[in-house]
Formats: sequence, C-alpha cells, structure tokens
Amino acid sequence: MKNMNYSNLWDAVEKAERIGISGHARPDGDCIGSCLGLVNYIADNYGKKADLYIDEIPASFTFLKGSEDIISGYPDAPKYDLFILLDCGDLERTADAAKYFKAADYTFCIDHHATNKGYADVDIIDGDSAATAELLCSIMDADKISLDTANCLYLGIVHDTGVFKHSNTRRQTMELAGMLLEKGVNAGNIIDKTFYEKTYVQNQILGRTLMESILLMDGKIIASYVSLDVQKLYGISNSDMEGIVDQLRVTKGIEVAILLKEVNKREWKVSLRSNNIVDVSLVAVKFAGGGHVRAAGCTLHGSVYDVLNSLTREIEKQMVE
Ligand code: 5GP
Ligand code: MN
Repeated sequence: MKNMNYSNLWDAVEKAERIGISGHARPDGDCIGSCLGLVNYIADNYGKKADLYIDEIPASFTFLKGSEDIISGYPDAPKYDLFILLDCGDLERTADAAKYFKAADYTFCIDHHATNKGYADVDIIDGDSAATAELLCSIMDADKISLDTANCLYLGIVHDTGVFKHSNTRRQTMELAGMLLEKGVNAGNIIDKTFYEKTYVQNQILGRTLMESILLMDGKIIASYVSLDVQKLYGISNSDMEGIVDQLRVTKGIEVAILLKEVNKREWKVSLRSNNIVDVSLVAVKFAGGGHVRAAGCTLHGSVYDVLNSLTREIEKQMVE
C-alpha cells in the first residue's frame, strides 16, 4: 500500500463538518459501491451525512441505501472540510468533482489502480486490492459495518472481480466478502440483479457488437466498437455497455479484447482486457489512460481505423517481446 497512514481518515471524518465524496466519471459498480459504502459507514458511525456526487447510476443499483440522495450535475457548493475521491486513478477522471476536491481543506484518495500516482493530501492506494470496495472494507472496522454498508461493498467487489473470477481476486477478497456475507448480504440477488441481468436493449447491443467484432493479429486481438449513432438508435447509456468487453475477452484464442465507445464525434473511450501476457495498463498509460494489468482504459481521437491502429501497434510490442 502506497500510504499506510489511513488511520487518520477516520480522525478526519470525526473532525470534519462538511464532507464530500465522489468517484470517477461514467462510474462502474466498484465506484458506486465504494462511494455509497463510505456514505453509509460515515452516517452509521459518525452521524454525519456526506454529500455524494455521481453522474449516473444504473437502475439496478437503486436498492442501495443512500442512492436516493446522490447529487448529479455537479452544482456549485460551499467548500468542504474534507473531500474523498474513490476508485479514481487520476484527477482528470472525476468529470466535474475535481472542483470540490481542489477547493477542499483536506483531501483523501482511496483507490486500487496501480497506475495511480497519488494526488490527495493522503493517498491510500493499493494496486493489489481487487476493488476499491475491498480496500475500503479493509480499512473499516468490521464490527461497525452495517448491512447497508455491506451491500454496497459486496456489490463493488462483485463487479470489479467479475463475480470473483478475474485474476485480481485473492484470498483477502474472498475473506472480506465472507465477512460481508455474515452481515446478511443477499449475494445471489446482488449478483443476478446487478451483474448478470440485462435489459432487452442491453442484450441487443451486446449481440450487435459481438456480431460486428473483428479479429486482428492472427486472431490474438478481438475488437469492436459502438458508435454514437448506434447508441442513439438503441437509446443506451454508458452503463448499458458494461460487460461487452468481458464477453469479447473470453473468445477462444484471444489475448487482448478492445471495445471502443464513442463519447463525442470521433472521440473514443477505449476499454482494454487481456488474458495472460499483455499488460494493458501499459498500453493505456501510453495514451494518457490507466487501470490494471488485465483491465485498463484510455481515450483516443480519430476514426475507428486510426484508433485500432494506434492500440494494436502498442499491444504488438508486448506480444513480440
Ligand atoms: P473499463 O474498461 O471498465 O472502463 O475500465 C477498466 C479499468 O481501467 C477500470 O479500473 C478503470 O477505472 C480504468 N480506466 C478506464 N479508463 C481509464 C482512464 O482513462 N484513465 C485511468 N487512469 N484509468 C482508466
Ligand atoms: Mn475499481
């Protein structure tokens, strides 16, 4: 862990009157689970209501306590005594929450991205944690974790480990998840309803993207894309595309899966996954992104062809070494 000095997180929470929390833009399950887990833990144990800023939350997550109080749209707010950013590998990934963070008196970053260089007054970063929710859980007092908090943390761990199957899953991941189960978490329900269940339109976009995928480098790379036009046609948002790249990754013989999601005209949010050899975080970092060895992302501009060319050139370097 980069900074072991996490005990003062709880001192800071104790002292602060105004606490703000946020995560990265286009948040995933780990980001939302970690943020809401911390909001609930602070409410339960310190009697304080932290403001949580998140840009969008999937409907299937709205059973989590505190989701109803999420603030969207990043409105102006008085400065915070304490601002905590979770699951956010660098300050550029916060959408607009960076403005609260920069204005705050004291800041923490709690994150598990190995590419995170640190940017807060106190950085609690552990690249070995499978999820930010796992890291957060490990610095909480287990006796003080309520069922509401446990639901959030469990959801976060489930999502970043792909239901305990990705290579980031370790003994501590399972042990903490076991502790959360003992709080009364309904694991089957969380796994089915928030991870596996897809709406009809999510399945349609999954099917379409798989159908349009192409193989590169003798079938070692699989790539596909979802253009703005297609997103508009199906009326989908970012969270509707969760899981597509993971399905691409489990294609037989594949080392790297690439999914391009168009976020503005000719601007692509890139999702990268690998199986055994390629460190995709190194590829993402080349293009000012980041992430983990087996799952990373970045943003690139140009045509699909240009973007795939740039990415495969970097991936190829690692495959021939
Ligand atoms: P996903 O493909 O699911 O969006 O992201 C995979 C992993 O890479 C996640 O842990 C995510 O936080 C990280 N990641 C994705 N895009 C970026 C980026 O632009 N910058 C950084 N630092 N990390 C990213
Ligand atoms: Mn995460």
